[in-house]
Amino acid sequence: MAERALVTKNGAILLGDNVACDAFDATRPLRVVTHAHADHLCGLRKSVKCCEKVLMTKATRDLAETLNGNLKLRDKCVVTLDYGKVLKYDDEKISLLKADHILGASQVLVEDAGGIRIAWSGDFRLEGTPVVESDVLVIEATYGTPSCRRNFDVDVRELLVSMVERRLRGGTVYVFGYHGKLQEIMQILRNADVEVPFVMPERVYEVTKVCEKHGMRLGCLSRSTDKEGHELLDANLPCVAFYHMNQRQHVGLRNARICVSGWEFQKPYRQIGDREYLVALSDHSDFDGLIEYVKRSRAKQVMK
Ligand SMILES: [Zn+2]
Repeated sequence: MAERALVTKNGAILLGDNVACDAFDATRPLRVVTHAHADHLCGLRKSVKCCEKVLMTKATRDLAETLNGNLKLRDKCVVTLDYGKVLKYDDEKISLLKADHILGASQVLVEDAGGIRIAWSGDFRLEGTPVVESDVLVIEATYGTPSCRRNFDVDVRELLVSMVERRLRGGTVYVFGYHGKLQEIMQILRNADVEVPFVMPERVYEVTKVCEKHGMRLGCLSRSTDKEGHELLDANLPCVAFYHMNQRQHVGLRNARICVSGWEFQKPYRQIGDREYLVALSDHSDFDGLIEYVKRSRAKQVMK
């Protein structure tokens, strides 16, 4: 069963005979993009030019285009594949399965001519991810060491909601995070009936609109540059302002601020500034989640 999967030095995950995932590889006719985070789009332009097919979910295509203004994914070689649908190529069957990570994220399963099942987990969080049973498994390892465990005794989502609700009494609350994660937080707040307007800069707004197009329901949204959004922020009215982490030093400096990050293992939250808190909400499994996935996959060979 050797060599059914391989991780190249460019970071491509090679599965079976035909598939390269998440980076360009000149030897493979099929390229899979598991999700729209930049480190999974390596050499994508080249893949669109050179590969026979480039596979991803519709949501990943829309998000990747929105996050990378000049990336064009409407070429006829780009094939969007819904979760669970099978694409046959030579003697292999390729399918994408849901991964709980960001909108559109998928795992990849290749079943070869001999019936051997070869899987790549992509980035995932175990709680919403169906485990793929496989013979050979390549698994992500963002938190792949035993020190990366989050054994908190509170529900981080509930904690986040109550932190925001409490601080809204004093005016605008700023939330900082990465694309995809910001929209997940919006959804958590709406699900908890937080109904104040959400204000955001243009780019976050565009990503949020893609998430809505693909089924998220995020309520009243304003751009910070529009009259309404600008007035809300200017008058410090109760609303939640969502900004990318790289704007942390530039906006909302006198407001209540919440940064959301997965790189936090000691406590579910901690104070990092005068009115600023860090909340440990991750879109990756911690070490225990990775091990649990490996066990449940029943794979005979595992690599990362
Ligand atoms: Zn990712």
